Amino acid sequence: MKNVKRREFLKSGTLLGGSALVFGCGQQQQGEAPAVRTRQTYNWNMVTTWPPHFPVMGEGADKMAEWIDEMSEGRLKISVRGGGELVPALESFDAVSQGAVEMGHGVAYYWAGKIPAAQFFAAVPFGMNAQQMNSWLYSGGGLALWEELYAPFNLVPMPAGNTGMQMGGWFNRKINTADDLKGLKMRIPGLGANVIKKAGGAPVLTAGGEIYTNLERGVIDATEWVGPYHDYLMGFHRIAKYYYYPGWHEPGPVLELIVNKQMWDSLPKDLQMIIRVASDRANIWMLSEFESKNNTYLKKLVTEEKVNLLKFPDVVLSKLKSYADEVLAEMTEQDPQARKVFESFDKFRKDVGGWAEVSEKVYYSFAEIPA
Ligand code: CA
Repeated sequence: MKNVKRREFLKSGTLLGGSALVFGCGQQQQGEAPAVRTRQTYNWNMVTTWPPHFPVMGEGADKMAEWIDEMSEGRLKISVRGGGELVPALESFDAVSQGAVEMGHGVAYYWAGKIPAAQFFAAVPFGMNAQQMNSWLYSGGGLALWEELYAPFNLVPMPAGNTGMQMGGWFNRKINTADDLKGLKMRIPGLGANVIKKAGGAPVLTAGGEIYTNLERGVIDATEWVGPYHDYLMGFHRIAKYYYYPGWHEPGPVLELIVNKQMWDSLPKDLQMIIRVASDRANIWMLSEFESKNNTYLKKLVTEEKVNLLKFPDVVLSKLKSYADEVLAEMTEQDPQARKVFESFDKFRKDVGGWAEVSEKVYYSFAEIPA
């Protein structure tokens, strides 16, 4: 009930009025020192699609707020709000777009219903890994396309985290052929959901905080989540029999920071740069957290929790790959925005893929993996 009241409060625009007042005070007047040199302070909220202080993703949001506070010497204070605290998890895009909240942290594929092309800035099935996604965004024109895509929604987006390669997910039945996906109720977001649908399954989008209960109660038969470290913390091994790999649907999903455009424009340049630096640091920090802990927790799951760790059979993966190609072809045919973004994505994927063929792909097949 508290949330409902809070939502009404937010919708009433009271908070926006309050923020506008704060910014009003911060406006530079003639003859004054530049805004960057004033002690004008800004008190902002960051809504997230994660439960409060959620490991890694929520922690990353908390850290961004700490880093921004420290770098700005207290001039920009950000209060991080978990999903449901100010607005429901999957309504954070609207809250920031409408200016009820200054910034939000989440993943672009959660907004697929509003902007199908946004999904390319999160994860593409059989697409690019974390390193390649970062290269596309920072050095391959991806970020400019993302900014263009979010501009009509009054939002400035930027990468602010990555989970690295994910796992295929938790299942309560074995997937031996693509036919075993028929009728499967699976929690899976983004373009991967469209692929599961093509395979005859029933994809469901649920925010992180609700998945466990849904799987436990049989509302869903399967769920993907992140990788061994985070999945262990979520406890899925207690309620699902099989843990499949690889995460064909999310090879390097990007987390995003979105900032309301007017609020962004109201900041002095140095505070804008501080936000960018903090979100870049969050991008590295989260990826490092996952990469450093995944194998430790994979071993724990297998040896201590006796999880059945299984690789999707090649026949299943190649079927999923052909469904993914169909999903992308249909999407880009119907939606000019998606076509434009995908053309850039796909060209870049081919370029970095060509390089990977003679670099990492060959290297990994011969590099010794310590036991
Ligand atoms: Ca996932």
